[in-house]
Amino acid sequence: MNAQSTTLLIIGGGPGGYVAAIRAAQLGIATTLIEGEQLGGTCLNIGCIPSKALIHAADAFEKACQYAGDSALGIRVQSPRIDLPQTVRWKDGIVHKLTSGVATLLKKNGVQVIKGWARIIDGKTVEVRQSAEDVASAGPAPLRIGCQHLLLATGSQAVALPNMPFGGPVISSTEALSPASLPRRLVVVGAGYIGLELGTAYRKLGAEVSVVEALDRILPAYDADLGKPVAAALQRLGVQFHLGCTVQGLNASGDAVRVRNSEGEESELAADQVLVAVGRHPRTQGWDLESLMLDMTGRAVKIDDQCRTSMRDVWAIGDLTGEPMLAHRAMAQGEMVAEIIAGKRRHFAPRAMPAVCFTDPEVVVAGYTPQGALDAGLDCIDAIFPFAANGRAMTIESTAGFVRVVARRDNHLIVGWQAVGSSVSELSAAFSHSIEMGAVLEDVAGTIHAHPTLGEAVQETALRALGHALHI
Ligand code: FAD
Ligand code: NAD
Repeated sequence: MNAQSTTLLIIGGGPGGYVAAIRAAQLGIATTLIEGEQLGGTCLNIGCIPSKALIHAADAFEKACQYAGDSALGIRVQSPRIDLPQTVRWKDGIVHKLTSGVATLLKKNGVQVIKGWARIIDGKTVEVRQSAEDVASAGPAPLRIGCQHLLLATGSQAVALPNMPFGGPVISSTEALSPASLPRRLVVVGAGYIGLELGTAYRKLGAEVSVVEALDRILPAYDADLGKPVAAALQRLGVQFHLGCTVQGLNASGDAVRVRNSEGEESELAADQVLVAVGRHPRTQGWDLESLMLDMTGRAVKIDDQCRTSMRDVWAIGDLTGEPMLAHRAMAQGEMVAEIIAGKRRHFAPRAMPAVCFTDPEVVVAGYTPQGALDAGLDCIDAIFPFAANGRAMTIESTAGFVRVVARRDNHLIVGWQAVGSSVSELSAAFSHSIEMGAVLEDVAGTIHAHPTLGEAVQETALRALGHALHI
């Protein structure tokens, strides 16, 4: 068996692992990265990027279909149609460009990348095999690597429903992102991020979409006011909701989902395909992680505010460490761990972890909601400015939604922003900047915002919280 050693050994080449590797190499640390599938992980291959590409294609197709009707804008289009295999090829092209870019960056920075599946031997030794099956059978490994620091970044995987496992018509987001053809009827289980982002895209592409959600509203992770414009838009699109319902499995002929409501009544929803999107679990199984006997928080590896695990010089980042499972969190943690190993003083203590749901309208949150601030014992004021009063929103036919600010009553320190509306994902940077930089309402209210932009609604929200909004 071949053996080698390195300073930093990283398992997993997703946004957590590859960013840690690039930063560590920049800082002169000998770094080896092991990836079993494709560099870029869930995010670039089967997550953030391909989903946003599909959402964009679906938006464009739906617009064309709208124009084929009686468009108020005076645009006339005849019988638009979509060539789905070409859409998927275009999406794959973006994925390929980004993943090969990651490979180039790693090479340029001098990171040793090993393609293969890692198995833990101990906190300083890892074996690499060609396939995940080889790891499970634990036969002889072609390579053994020793290290001073071990960084675990194996990500997460989709949760399966015991009564409706993946296979045949029952798919996860991975299959939903590479459709060979469009199902006529799609049932989506779970009205969270994936269910609503992809459910919206499939509806816009032409599928009949029904969404089954166990709780009594969509996007239950966000406050109720943020979900309302999204629910209204989905209903206008013709998406059917079955809230407060659980799925019991497929029917005997496999062409319908059996659903039970909160009164215990059962019904069937006809389905050609079922997208199960009920959450993701940290990827802890199948690579002998348990042999390290690390402290866990539920299914996630427990870490402190420097991403140290309970074992010295064993670090963990990203989805493996639990919620929030977001690519930008994984990247920020990866960069920080590299810097700590290089001797810098760093802690992971963001004031705001922005999160965006790419529905239509989009939802963005950063920092505290009014209720969250109350729960944290903060005495806050909050204010809302609706996009219905924003000129730019009218010119892009997107007046649904609002911006909300939460600020301390005593000194007006901004502690939270939320928005729902068209393209509000792009406001996330402004929201995070103001919170991280300790801005007060007067700072945002006194900043000149370009006209006409959706960003003016951010300034007006701050003005409204101060009691003197100008345009409402
Ligand atoms: P991952 O990206 O999962 O990478 C882990 C890597 O480790 C994988 O490449 C895997 O092959 C490898 N690996 C695992 N075990 C081994 C082993 N034993 N040996 C070798 N390699 C191994 N987040 C956002 O912030 N914004 C979004 O818009 C967004 N959209 C999403 C859409 C979908 C459909 C999904 C599924 C997720 C989305 N996410 C989004 C979440 C985001 O993808 C994850 O939070 C992010 O990828 C986590 O990064 P990570 O590095 O922790 O793990
Ligand atoms: P999620 O946690 O966002 O939503 C799961 C939903 O399924 C919840 O509303 C939950 O109440 C519901 N549910 C759970 N069990 C159910 C059952 N048996 N029957 C019916 N409903 C049930 O999870 P997800 O959509 O699978 O996404 C997984 C993770 O991926 C997210 O937590 C997020 O971190 C990440 N993600 C992020 C983005 C983004 O940032 N835009 C996009 C996609 C995914």
